[in-house]
Amino acid sequence: MQKGTIGVTTENIFPVIKKFLYSDHEIFLRELVSNAVDATQKLRALSSFGEFKGEVGNPTVRVTVDKEAGTLTVSDSGIGMTAEDVDKYINQIAFSGAEEFLNKYKDTAASIIGHFGLGFYSAFMVSKKVVIESLSYKDGAEAVRWECDGSPEYSMGAGERKERGTDIILYIDDESKEFLDQQRVDTLLRKYCRFLPVPVISGKEREWKDGAWTDTDKDLVINSTEPQWMKKPSELTDADYLAFYQELYPGQEEPLFWIHLNVDYPFNLTGILYFPKIKNNFDINRNRIQLYCNQVYVTDSVEGVVPEFMQLLQGVIDSPDIPLNVSRSYLQADSAVKKISSYITKKVAGRLDELFRADRAEFEKKWDDIRIFIVYGMLTDEKFCEAAMKFMLLKDTEGHYYTLDEYKTLVEANQTDAEGKIVYLYATDATAQYDYIKAANDRGYNVLLLDGQLDNHFVGLLERKLENTSLVRVDSDVTDNLIRKNDRKVAELSPTARAIMTRLFEQPTRKVEKTSFMVQFEALAAGSQPVVLTQNEYMRRMKEMAALQPGMNFYGELPDSYTVVVNTEHPLVKNIISKAETALDAKVEPLLKTIDEANSKAEETRKSAGKEELSAEAKATVDAAEKTVTDSRAAMDAAIDAYAPSEPAVAQLVDLALLGNGLLRGEALSAFIARSVELLK
Ligand code: ADP
Repeated sequence: MQKGTIGVTTENIFPVIKKFLYSDHEIFLRELVSNAVDATQKLRALSSFGEFKGEVGNPTVRVTVDKEAGTLTVSDSGIGMTAEDVDKYINQIAFSGAEEFLNKYKDTAASIIGHFGLGFYSAFMVSKKVVIESLSYKDGAEAVRWECDGSPEYSMGAGERKERGTDIILYIDDESKEFLDQQRVDTLLRKYCRFLPVPVISGKEREWKDGAWTDTDKDLVINSTEPQWMKKPSELTDADYLAFYQELYPGQEEPLFWIHLNVDYPFNLTGILYFPKIKNNFDINRNRIQLYCNQVYVTDSVEGVVPEFMQLLQGVIDSPDIPLNVSRSYLQADSAVKKISSYITKKVAGRLDELFRADRAEFEKKWDDIRIFIVYGMLTDEKFCEAAMKFMLLKDTEGHYYTLDEYKTLVEANQTDAEGKIVYLYATDATAQYDYIKAANDRGYNVLLLDGQLDNHFVGLLERKLENTSLVRVDSDVTDNLIRKNDRKVAELSPTARAIMTRLFEQPTRKVEKTSFMVQFEALAAGSQPVVLTQNEYMRRMKEMAALQPGMNFYGELPDSYTVVVNTEHPLVKNIISKAETALDAKVEPLLKTIDEANSKAEETRKSAGKEELSAEAKATVDAAEKTVTDSRAAMDAAIDAYAPSEPAVAQLVDLALLGNGLLRGEALSAFIARSVELLK
């Protein structure tokens, strides 16, 4: 019996293993089963080279739980190990750079096992004792038994195994009893070993019999050994891809389409990515892309490996070239990973372009569903954005789709403003903005529908990418002014009429809380609405951005501001003006005159003092003039306010505009209804 100390050059590897991998104990099973699969594959390889002459048979890996004995055993009939092998591969574990690695990364909580020849030792995370029983495939090999209780001392001697292969027997420690539960073990095997290339057996299949689950005598095979992504795309039908999707994400709605990845230079990568149908809320956390390393499941946190926006995709990526077991920051700096990430970007963009070209109608059908990926991608990935400009579609409010080039051609002639800028109109809500859309359409303008979650960012992106083009929301101004042309008519109002009308139309807006309104007069077409509410494009965008980004509170806290545009050409408005002038001119005109005079007086007095400080006398003159202004204005407002009730049409028109924008609520709404009924009498 040989006794010795395991050749770890670090002081003692076990505390390190236990400490670093604390949160990830379950991966021991992945490591042991992978080793067993490797051993089996190696035997197959030796056999195909003619180095192994015996019968390979149909090797399996078997995981057996013995609750009474407190053991979990992983058995294979692979190449096995001689005493020499055990010495070399198990006892001297530090030769693959583990020490250096541990020193470098001991501050990160990253899992370090697997890539550095430490996989086997992960068994000690859950075991008080580990036994290896092995018989090598080599002619005349003798069975070997190795035993270690977690201290660096082991013992090694003759073993009992009669058949080629290896048993790894774990005496599960008291804190890890969960791994003696068949169900738990099955679950773990399904998670990590579902697509391993050798059948993995875990106990027996069960059936419902006499009111209880009972073992049958059929082995329960956990995995499918030939996952679709390892096959050639030409061997697979659409049905195969869909079935595989169901296998990965049972019960999910059919994906929109998929991309089969297959590279072997300059790195190795296979996989299938699916574009899922995303519901309103994107469900990024469930059903994510799974990362495999030679068919061994590693993780579903693919940050760094896959470009950010593609984390919305689903499916499988398998690559032995991704350093899977190290920390995230290391991953991101890794050049292989960068290459992989940009390869995936290119591939996805290429596939989308291909789909677009091959069948435009089909592409349009799926567009609404895939749009979110593409917009997200364009916003976050410059390269992808460039590629996507070719197949990106714009959809108008009537449901027609255009490429960026097509759309430009469509609107260029009619939607270029006086300064030569092309203006794209858009709506963010086809129902709420219906009135504005209709008015724009009537005017011969096309309106895009940009109602996606990321669209306020997307609007900015389009403006940056498209030359000489600006985007304007359809309700940001009255239709006539959305695209400013030279033929604009100016509202002709006397100063008196302007003062009266401003006060009159402003008054009904005061009942709307936390919102500010400004009255403006425009000579629109007689057929346009008498009163239209618009919302300044710039301010609205600032507020929207503020809502999405912390740190822009200044804009976020500003009240919503609207412009009440009064159409002075509308017969109703004309009528209101003339009636108000008749009723109020006599009062308002002299007051306005007084205000003007007092203002001029104050101005003159200040001017004549020049840069000098005002004398006491001059100051008294200015104060008196200012008081006259305030008093006259109050008198004027009072007169207009007293007149207002006799002209209910004003409140009615303003309320209609508020109603059209969802701003009329509660008491104001009920007053509006009462007034409407009254007016019908
Ligand atoms: P890695 O698998 O990353 O090399 P491990 O610590 O898991 O590191 O295993 C070390 C070595 O021990 C393996 O490379 C292999 O040569 C040998 N080994 C482990 N398990 C088995 C097994 N079931 N059958 C044959 N050889 C094995």
